[in-house]
Amino acid sequence: MEDETFSEIAVEDCDDARKLGEEVFEIDNILSVEKMEHFSKCVNCTRKLVQVTSENIVQCDRCGHSMRLSQCERSIMAKIVAAQEDGQTVRLMIRKDVLNTILDGGINSLGEGEITKKLLMLRNLKLKYNVQSQIVSEINLESEINLEQNFD
Ligand SMILES: [Zn+2]
Repeated sequence: MEDETFSEIAVEDCDDARKLGEEVFEIDNILSVEKMEHFSKCVNCTRKLVQVTSENIVQCDRCGHSMRLSQCERSIMAKIVAAQEDGQTVRLMIRKDVLNTILDGGINSLGEGEITKKLLMLRNLKLKYNVQSQIVSEINLESEINLEQNFD
C-alpha cells in the first residue's frame, strides 16, 4: 500500500517557494521515529516516484515521463513524532536535505538504524515546519551537545 502522507510530500519536495503557514517550535527531543523511507525521484520533475511493479522502467504519475529506475536519484525521508510543551504531539516529516544538516553531511554513509538513533539522541531542537504539509524545513540545535556524552 502506498502511504498517502508520503505521496503528498513528493508534491512539496522541491517547493521551496511555499513558505506560508510555517511555524517554529522548540522541543527537548524527538519522541519517536515512525519510519525512514527510501524512494526514487523522477529525473524530469524530481518528485517522488510511486513504484508499482518490480520492472526497471517507471512512469512518473505527476509529469507522465517514463524512465529507467537505475537513473533515478535515491532519496530518504524520516517520519517523526515530536511533543510540544503542552504535551500535544505533532507528526512531522523530515526531508533528506534537512536530515543531512543535522547529520553533518553524512547521510549517504549512514544506515536507517544509525540515522534513527542520531535523531533520537538529539536534544534541544528548534524545528521550523509547515503546518499544512507537516514538512520540516529547518532544524536548529540550540546547543552543541556531544552525542557520546552521558546524560544525567
Ligand atoms: Zn515526473
